[in-house]
Amino acid sequence: MSLWAEGAAPGTPYWWEGAETPALTTDLPERADILVIGAGYTGLSAAIAAHDCGASVCVVDAEAPGRGASTRNGGMVGAHPRLGWDALAKSFGGEVADALFAEATPALDFVRDLIAREGIDCDFRQTGRVQLAWTRVHFEAQQRLAAHVRAKSDVKAEILDRAALAREIGTGRYFGGILFPEHGALHPRKYHDGLLAAVLRRGVPVLGGAEVTSLDRQGGGFTAQTAKGPIRAEKVILATNGYTTPLFRWHVARVFPLPSYLIATEPLPENLIGHLAPGRRMMVETRARHSYFRVSPDGTRILFGGRASMREVDMRTAARRLHATMTGIWPELAEVRVTHAWWGNTGFSFSHMPRVGEHAGLHYAMGFSGSGTVMAPWLGAKAAWRALGDPRGETAYAATALRRHVLHPFARPHFLKAADLWYRFAVDAAETRAGR
Ligand SMILES: Cc1cc2nc3c(=O)[nH]c(=O)nc-3n(C[C@H](O)[C@H](O)[C@H](O)COP(=O)(O)OP(=O)(O)OC[C@H]3O[C@@H](n4cnc5c(N)ncnc54)[C@H](O)[C@@H]3O)c2cc1C
Repeated sequence: MSLWAEGAAPGTPYWWEGAETPALTTDLPERADILVIGAGYTGLSAAIAAHDCGASVCVVDAEAPGRGASTRNGGMVGAHPRLGWDALAKSFGGEVADALFAEATPALDFVRDLIAREGIDCDFRQTGRVQLAWTRVHFEAQQRLAAHVRAKSDVKAEILDRAALAREIGTGRYFGGILFPEHGALHPRKYHDGLLAAVLRRGVPVLGGAEVTSLDRQGGGFTAQTAKGPIRAEKVILATNGYTTPLFRWHVARVFPLPSYLIATEPLPENLIGHLAPGRRMMVETRARHSYFRVSPDGTRILFGGRASMREVDMRTAARRLHATMTGIWPELAEVRVTHAWWGNTGFSFSHMPRVGEHAGLHYAMGFSGSGTVMAPWLGAKAAWRALGDPRGETAYAATALRRHVLHPFARPHFLKAADLWYRFAVDAAETRAGR
């Protein structure tokens, strides 16, 4: 059987269907108080926050805005830190770990309010999100995580044993899970385009095809050369995450691009979807394969993502691997074909936590490590407020220092080739055995 449905579009995100590109600004202004580099969630949220403080702002992107991760992702919405409390305390100290957990609910509230206030129609729903434990050991770790989440934040977390999990997903592959009932789902491209419209509505110029190719610090400000000409700015916010170009060497040495892949199935019968995902929750796994999957906003397809490879592979290879992982969970999908397969770069920090900060006078928010639908707009706004000296810029994410790693000495992610082999043939093989 061919994996591909007729008319399949390998390489094009499912989310781009029906997209109408908003008209962008054509002329680059000569100056702005704040220049934002990158027009994904981080940059657009920074632009809204800075403009609403009274600053003149300009946003430039190397590509069409949104062509980075912000219109390619899984659309899962969650806000508690990616790591458990113990790991955070080890990296940043107990006080910072507490503060990071405490920021989870304010960050989610911020995004919910932003969507409502700007009237963004992006299929946002608090569907709940289930983290699925592959092994008993993972399940035991989840119990510690749930206890910390409940003790250190206002986020609700319910442990699901096998019987409870059967009400959420039609497979017996998992040992148990945690349900975060307030977490949710959105349509990532509609969310991005809604933010873009909110920026343009404010009269803030947004230019695509305007890669910043040099940045000079002069007299307390900056002059940026872009593919659309020069611009002078008092402050600059770098919002480029997994797409940061080598010009920003300090950042590229600390945040590396890790690809994530997704497939969309052909439309499925309603009763089959009801059997696979009865609760219509967002699902993420504890395996190093890092599979994540969901029902599409219109309720007709399974969107299945994961680490098909830690480096760039062709769409056919990636789709085949994801399809195999999907049918390992739901064998009844073996004959189901794929209409879309695509990928994007997540921007990983070595601590797996994002940071908002300043280096050599350049403000930045990045390192979202695969969790950016909430954290990117949250920290984009924080970066703008910090640049403008607004007290709302205070955040525990200023204390999550971005570090270099001995395996990444030349700021080129060559180590991902070796890491890919290690994950696939050692970690993944061991986890597969443990999950049997
Ligand atoms: C496949 C995939 C699935 C994901 N799934 C989820 C999920 O389900 N839930 C979740 O919370 N997160 C998810 N994420 C992560 C989330 O999408 C990102 O964290 C978020 O979109 C980052 O937004 P951003 O604005 O920082 O970066 P991006 O949206 O990547 O934008 C960066 C922009 O910077 C521009 N740029 C780079 N260099 C320059 C330059 N020199 N000059 C001008 N412009 C430049 C790029 O062109 C790009 O448009 C996923 C990511 C991927 C790739």
